[in-house]
Amino acid sequence: MGRDGTERARDSRGRAEASATTRRVRAAEPLAARQERPLTAPRERPTHGTGERLADTQQGMRRRNLSRVMHAVATQGTLSRAAVASHIGLTRAAVSTLVDELIRAGLLEELGPERPGRVGRPGSALAVSARGPAGIGAEVGVDHLAVCAVDLRGEVRARTVRRVGNRGRAPEPVLADLASLVREVAREAAQEGLRPAGLAVAVPGLVARDTHTVVRAPNLDWHDADLGALLPSELPLTVDNEANFGALAELWLGGTAPADFLHVSAEIGIGAALVVDGRLLRGSRGFAGELGHVPVWPEGPECTCGGRGCLEQYAGEEAVLRAAGLAPGADQVGVLAERAAAGDAQVRAALRGAGTALGIALTGAVNLLDPRAVVLGGALSRLAPWLLPSLEGELGHRITGPSCGVVVSGVGSDGPLLGAAHAVVRAVLDDPVGVAQGS
Ligand SMILES: [Zn+2]
Repeated sequence: MGRDGTERARDSRGRAEASATTRRVRAAEPLAARQERPLTAPRERPTHGTGERLADTQQGMRRRNLSRVMHAVATQGTLSRAAVASHIGLTRAAVSTLVDELIRAGLLEELGPERPGRVGRPGSALAVSARGPAGIGAEVGVDHLAVCAVDLRGEVRARTVRRVGNRGRAPEPVLADLASLVREVAREAAQEGLRPAGLAVAVPGLVARDTHTVVRAPNLDWHDADLGALLPSELPLTVDNEANFGALAELWLGGTAPADFLHVSAEIGIGAALVVDGRLLRGSRGFAGELGHVPVWPEGPECTCGGRGCLEQYAGEEAVLRAAGLAPGADQVGVLAERAAAGDAQVRAALRGAGTALGIALTGAVNLLDPRAVVLGGALSRLAPWLLPSLEGELGHRITGPSCGVVVSGVGSDGPLLGAAHAVVRAVLDDPVGVAQGS
């Protein structure tokens, strides 16, 4: 399909692709196009004639069915072949052929007979393989770098975090550090029989849609940084805004998120991502969700974006610390939480003010978009008990109609990193055939 083909070429960064590379890339290719698609959602209608033909061919049908088997087993944990057949509505014979192919490719494994005490021929329990392809997620933060490897079962198998002040550092040294962490995590994962299927990087800035280019990251002071040119080229790469990956983590892992919600990721910067019908709303250029630069008070303090009085100047981590009389530093959010819990009046007032600013900025978004819920994520979600009363108060009296609920993220500050790794994993589950053929 034309759109997929274009993305595949981008993911491989324009290199001439050997067939094995093409297949590996194809396994991770749907990231940009499909990462937000829920498990049971129908495929997007392809827009080009070639895509229509592919979707309708036997090969296209087989690829979809392989994906359905992978998703059924991944969702349930373990399933017999008969149960897979019943889940996806195919005959047991058809499912057996698909399962055999996925076992040969090392994507599914048989755990042995289940329910051995029962009369009749026991079925063999299937599980998604704990070895083989893994998603590598990475996060560039203002004060840290993090990388993790997640297997197809969704388990974090390797992880590393380095505290480092990245504000004002050029992209080259930051990404060299990140690349070294990626290699470290990949080595650790390899010792457990895992091989990276792709790398997804969460960044605190604007990423041009379907590209690897960070157009602007105010808190890093990056402009037009092409991460594709600066990171190792052996893995298919996806780059996205941290708030987008955080929202996807909430959707996939949070357990409580509805299909329509506004996810607010509050750290040093404040980002938001809107999920509509289980999909991210990216905006025409990919820049949707810059809640941190919505003005709360147009004549307020100068912001890194060049404007004044943005939400970040009132509810960003550094602004809250300043108002609480604390200096920036490692785990200062933990200190804020401790002091607020102990009844520190200045800290509580700072959090009340931040909640009010969040409520004012979110009023516009909620009135405009009518999400089912606002999910508060990121580091500041740990401060929810002291942020929420004033936030909900503002929303409650400013919103037309009944206010929408505000809930605290089930994933927390790990969201962007986990969302990135899971985006790669889901791309493999969505199209296992490329990996299957490449093995
Ligand atoms: Zn701003």
